[in-house]
Formats: sequence, C-alpha cells, structure tokens
Amino acid sequence: MHSFHYENGALHCEGVNLNTLADEQGTPLYVYSKATIVDHYRRLAAGMSELDCQICYATKANSNLSVLNLLAKEGAGFDVVSGGEIFRVEKAGGAPGKCTFAGVGKTRAEIELGLEKGIYSFNAESEAEVAFINQVAGELGKVAPIALRVNPNVDAKTHKYISTGKSENKFGIDFEVIEKAYERAAALPNVKIRGLQMHIGSQLTSVKPFVEAVEKVRPFVEALKEKYNIEFFSIGGGIGIVYEDTLASGSDSWWEAQEEKPLTIEEYASQLVPLLKPLGLKIILEPGRFMVGNAGVLITEVLYEKRGSAKTFKIIDAAMNDLIRPALYEGHHDIARLKEPTGEDNEIVDIVGPVCESGDFFAQNRELPGLDAGDRIALLSAGAYGFVMASNYNSRPLPAEILVDGEQAHVIRRRQTMDDLVAGEVIV
Ligand SMILES: *Cc1c(COP(=O)(O)O)cnc(C)c1O
Repeated sequence: MHSFHYENGALHCEGVNLNTLADEQGTPLYVYSKATIVDHYRRLAAGMSELDCQICYATKANSNLSVLNLLAKEGAGFDVVSGGEIFRVEKAGGAPGKCTFAGVGKTRAEIELGLEKGIYSFNAESEAEVAFINQVAGELGKVAPIALRVNPNVDAKTHKYISTGKSENKFGIDFEVIEKAYERAAALPNVKIRGLQMHIGSQLTSVKPFVEAVEKVRPFVEALKEKYNIEFFSIGGGIGIVYEDTLASGSDSWWEAQEEKPLTIEEYASQLVPLLKPLGLKIILEPGRFMVGNAGVLITEVLYEKRGSAKTFKIIDAAMNDLIRPALYEGHHDIARLKEPTGEDNEIVDIVGPVCESGDFFAQNRELPGLDAGDRIALLSAGAYGFVMASNYNSRPLPAEILVDGEQAHVIRRRQTMDDLVAGEVIV
C-alpha cells in the first residue's frame, strides 16, 4: 500500500495536506508515511510467518533515526554497512544483537565497534576480510560470529549498477570456491561460523532470480548445517517496488491493483517459503527499498518555465543533489501535481533541477499536468535511496524530512542552515 491520495483537490499523505505542509516547511521537502512503512513491515513478516524469520532492515535505504526507531519497535533487526550505521541503529533503539554487518570493506575501527556492540553476524565478503576479523577479534580477546557472503552467479535482471550476484560483481565469494573458504575460516581460532549470506541485487521485479539462487545454494546450506551447525541463512534484500502508475488507482485499491505487477509479497512468500522451510534454520531477510520506497515523496516547487525551440523545461527547486536516482541509475519517479489534475491542461515537458549538470533531470519528454511557477509537485516513491544519498553539491542545504502519522506531521530532521554548510571548515 501507500498513503498518498487526493482529497478535496489536494494531494495528501495520510491525513496531511502536502501543500499546507510545504507552506510551513518550505521545499524541497521529504515526506514519509508511517502507516506505509509499518504496513510493509507487517505484510512481509506475515508472509514469512511459517519460518523462523528475522527481518534485518537494510539501514542504508533510509537511515533517519525515526524510521529506524519505528522499525525497531516492530521487531526489526538491521543490516548495517558501516560503523556510522551501527551508531545510528543503537541511537534509534535498535538491538545490535539483531544486526548483521555487511560490506566489502570493513575497517579495523568498524570491526572493533561491531565486536564491542555484539553484532549478531559479520557477513564477510572475502577471505582476506575473514582473516582480518579473526585478527582483530583475537587482539580484543573475543570470538567474532561470521557468515560468508556467497556470490551465486545468477542474473538478477536489474540495472547493472544494482546487480550484485554475478561473478563479475565485486560482492561475495564465488560459489565455486565458497566451500574451501568455509574450511579455512573454520580453522581460525577467533571466528565462529554462524551462517551463510547472499544478496543478488536490488529492485528485482520477478521472484525467479531469488528462486534460482536459493535452489542453487540450498544443498550447500544443508552441508554447512551438518558440518558447522550454522544457525541462519540470509537471502538478502532486493524485493523490487513499483515506480510507475503508483497513484493511478487510488490508495485503497492500490495494493490490490498491484496483483498483476511483477512482484508481490504473496508471490515472494509462496515461492520461497516452501524452499526455505525444510532447512530448519533461521531465515534472515534484508529488505531496504521494499520497506520504505513507496512510503516517501520529495515535494518540490516549480521556479520557472523555459520554452526552448525543441523542448519545454520546467525548472524546479529540487536537484540531483537531493535525489540522485535518475542521474545515477536512470531511476524513474512518477510525478504528481499537488493540486489535483483535471486532465485538461497536460503538456509534454522536461522536469529539471538547477544544478549545472546535464544529468540533473527528473523527467524527460513526459506528459504532465500544466505547471506554473509556484505550483508544487511530488516526486513519488522517493523514500528509499533518496535523502540518504543527498549531498551538499552546489552548496545546497539538505532538505528537511517529515514523518506523517495520521493528521500529525513530525519534523524528523530539520532543514540544513547555511551555517551547517560550512560546519567544520576553517580558513587558513
Ligand atoms: C543494499 C543491500 C540490501 C538492501 O537492498 P534492497 O534492494 O534495498 O532491498 C540488502 N543486503 C545487502 C547486503 C545490501 O547491500
């Protein structure tokens, strides 16, 4: 589901009129729906209820403390990729004992922090990393719980920048050599083998690659259980979301309207649960995008229209520094005018930001409702890999973030000030 819909001619998030909110808070502005995030968590947990399943939310997708806190209260653990994320999770009330630590380049300081906090599993991505974790743990007189990340060499059929499970990607240890890697890890005194992990890519719109990867790896998981008595198998994250026509059928029937869309939780669960259940292990899922993607929008205001000989440009006050998905992954975001469209004033336009890069656009040759200077639009499905990837490029202060809960809108991160822009800098 998601909670964005028109009411009395204006786009709302749950019970909050987004135009009124933008009057108060300014633009660009990230707005998240609490109900959507909670609904997505509960749907996934319910789909997996036949398994001993721990959802470890992929913190990097949206790491605002309030979002993490919300999920911690629902029972989520967290998949973290840095010391900074461990710090955030703990500050937000998450339990390190329910956290897995991913990433190909963990530093000494990060490994020490993870050991000190009692991370559930260090998911190691190379033998060199395992050796280093063993060394650091030994120096601290500790034993590090580890899993190896296997690269199953399946094609996730997603954008090349977010595919991670092919041999040519930098992630994980090749399936062909993983058994030997476990044997060598088992001989190390300061690591304890706790599980196996994989993550084949992001924004997967079919369940097939997940099934293929699980089927390929399953006999090996059984062997690991036999040999090292492992506790868990993590199948990673990657559940894709719908980026197009998200508002088309209204909020109530929205989820149902997705039935014929590529990947639903019902399909994910019905195909994977029967494959995973016989293993008798704890199954970890690491969804990021699925949990928060459709729960967030970026509100922005039209500044100018520029009619060129070839195109009409609408220049808005959000830019690639605020939301980089279109520039980085050719990501699509539906665009909704906050004032409900009538369908009568549509035109074909480019929506572009103010940054001096040709990649700074949000839509090209797209048919949209008429937009005058001062009108506001929402870039939809911006809750995942949105704010977290924002930068201060062009010395643009980071937008504020709002969490809507029914009629209430909470500022969960204030807009940056000019002083924030130069914090930490000195003139010599
Ligand atoms: C990024 C990442 C995830 C989350 O991916 P989504 O596509 O957002 O679900 C899960 N696990 C690992 C190891 C990751 O790097």
